[in-house]
Amino acid sequence: SMPNKNALTIGLIPADGIGREVIPAASRVIEAVLPSSVKLNFVHLDAGFELFQKTGVALPEATVKACLDGSLDGAMFGSVSSPSHKVEGYSSPIVALRKKLDLYANVRPVVTPVGASGKAIDMVIVRENTECLYIKSEKIEKNADGTRTAYATRKISETASRRIATMAFNIALKRGQVRQNSASLPLVTVVHKSNVLSITDGLFREVCLDVFKNGAEGAFAAKTRMDEQLVDSMVYRLFREPHKFDVCVAPNLYGDIISDGAAALVGSLGVVASANVGDTFCIGEPVHGSAPDIAGKGIANPIASIRSASMLLSHLGWNAEAARMDAAVDKVLVEHADLLTPDLGGKGTTDGVTAAVLKYL
Ligand code: ATP
Ligand code: MG
Repeated sequence: SMPNKNALTIGLIPADGIGREVIPAASRVIEAVLPSSVKLNFVHLDAGFELFQKTGVALPEATVKACLDGSLDGAMFGSVSSPSHKVEGYSSPIVALRKKLDLYANVRPVVTPVGASGKAIDMVIVRENTECLYIKSEKIEKNADGTRTAYATRKISETASRRIATMAFNIALKRGQVRQNSASLPLVTVVHKSNVLSITDGLFREVCLDVFKNGAEGAFAAKTRMDEQLVDSMVYRLFREPHKFDVCVAPNLYGDIISDGAAALVGSLGVVASANVGDTFCIGEPVHGSAPDIAGKGIANPIASIRSASMLLSHLGWNAEAARMDAAVDKVLVEHADLLTPDLGGKGTTDGVTAAVLKYL
């Protein structure tokens, strides 16, 4: 969609821990990359476990309202601390936001920087975010012999499968358009286990195939390719030859597992970005948590958040600006090992890395 090129309003929800350090860093980069003619407006919004401890509310109504009432173009979320034990009345604000805004996809690029040595990894995992085993329908029964048996119900719907597959193929189309070397069409790998779970994963697979064949008035079939991997073989291949993957689409649980595994291939949690995407809203969010061990020390890696901000801008149609942000981040990663934060083996700081990215912009 064509963005409104005159104004941009972005909600900032730093939440807990290093979220308060890396979200301001990302907002400085957004500010620097946009043309000065754009009226940029940041709206600061509260959420988090620390807020809950102070006020008894983890996700204020005002934060939800701002995301729902059309006043924001999109938002950035930092990170929430997860209490180590169950706290009465508390539930995760980002999980609640995803639900309330129907952000049904978690999109996670896994990339090595352009210019780095070795084979380039450039893949994106599109994870269904609303169903599968995460509907949390469990029960436990006592058997005649006194032992217990526990069950979990897994939900796979045609509707949720169709919309996640459509998003994955749309992402593939977009990657095909910007690809310099268009020798081969973008590839969508459908991850499932339909040899065992023939009904649930069978449905997911069938819908993905149908979206490929018939979706977007034939554009997916004409301009992308599709293949499939059983999730076990997917993990094997991901570790052996990650450079061969392009777009992967998966039900919730498999997506969770392969995306954390894939993150380990590219260095640190501190560089892995994500976007929570629905049909009407998008929230950029670094994959890492609140990192209480380093919070407040000024050494959190801001790159995951800067890349998440780039995903948000790209989602909103600011593609050239997003590409410039990514290129600046890659330059810092490849050419300034001295400036990088300790998670990447350096002695640098959040501010130092951010300043270097700003310099390259
Ligand atoms: P949470 O409960 O919020 O998830 P956590 O202790 O699991 O907290 P994570 O944020 O998941 O913390 O991080 C796991 C490890 O990775 C920690 O040692 C943390 O310091 C490190 N880490 C995570 N993000 C970053 C970052 N942006 N920069 C540097 N180190 C990071
Ligand atoms: Mg964690």
